[in-house]
Amino acid sequence: MSGVLYLAALAVVGLAFSAFYWRRRQRVAMLLATPLSDGLRRILKKSMPVFNRLPTEERSRLEGLINRFLSEVKFFGGGDFEVTEEMRVLIAAQACLLIVNQPDRWYKTLETIIVYPSAFKARERTYDGALELEHDSVRAGESWGRGPVVLSWDHAAYGAFIDHDGQNVVLHEFAHQLDDLTGSTDGSPPLARDHRVSDWARAFRASYERLREDAGAGRETFLDPYGATNPAEFFAVATETFFEKPDAMKREEPAVHAELVRYFRLDPAQWR
Ligand SMILES: [Zn+2]
Repeated sequence: MSGVLYLAALAVVGLAFSAFYWRRRQRVAMLLATPLSDGLRRILKKSMPVFNRLPTEERSRLEGLINRFLSEVKFFGGGDFEVTEEMRVLIAAQACLLIVNQPDRWYKTLETIIVYPSAFKARERTYDGALELEHDSVRAGESWGRGPVVLSWDHAAYGAFIDHDGQNVVLHEFAHQLDDLTGSTDGSPPLARDHRVSDWARAFRASYERLREDAGAGRETFLDPYGATNPAEFFAVATETFFEKPDAMKREEPAVHAELVRYFRLDPAQWR
């Protein structure tokens, strides 16, 4: 008898789980299929020029992704800073632009974004031999693996509006979030099944080593020399440049550009 009861209890738990996941899938599908309100769309049209350049299909997919993002990710102000609807939608739109053509990709480990009015101080730990040093550093953004993204609103708004200088803090920090989906932030995000890791590694390693050499020798570089810090920063810097200077990226870094076209499944050079 107890065996029958046990099986019945298991069936009830199983049914409850599948009902929960089914409802969640339905909810996500509904959010993805819903257009943005006129008010939110007006904000993007005014403050994020790339939104106006997106092809119709990408634009409506982006609107759905923004709905999902705003429904699943919580925003908090650093200190007593008040996060407005304009800030939320502009940050969400830039984050979702990275995955607009990657239907299976989602920021599934991200729950929280903390927004400061401008650059913020963070405690940084560095090592000099056995000596551990702690000091304050000023930042425009931070991304924690399996943790929050922290952003300066000034920099996030600038990145949305000035979209051709290769600097975009939201794209940078969310490239780290994508990178971290493998479980380690190392410059190698999870690739599609038909995308060979060896192709990715060859292109990125060669370009990263070149940037390190040029930056180390004080030569002028096409990519921001901050990308020479480590492979994770290189991927984040390359992502910013790919979205904001696509033509120059294709000319100067053709191999990395080609890998990023395959990874993001889009080419911003075609958004006119
Ligand atoms: Zn970074």
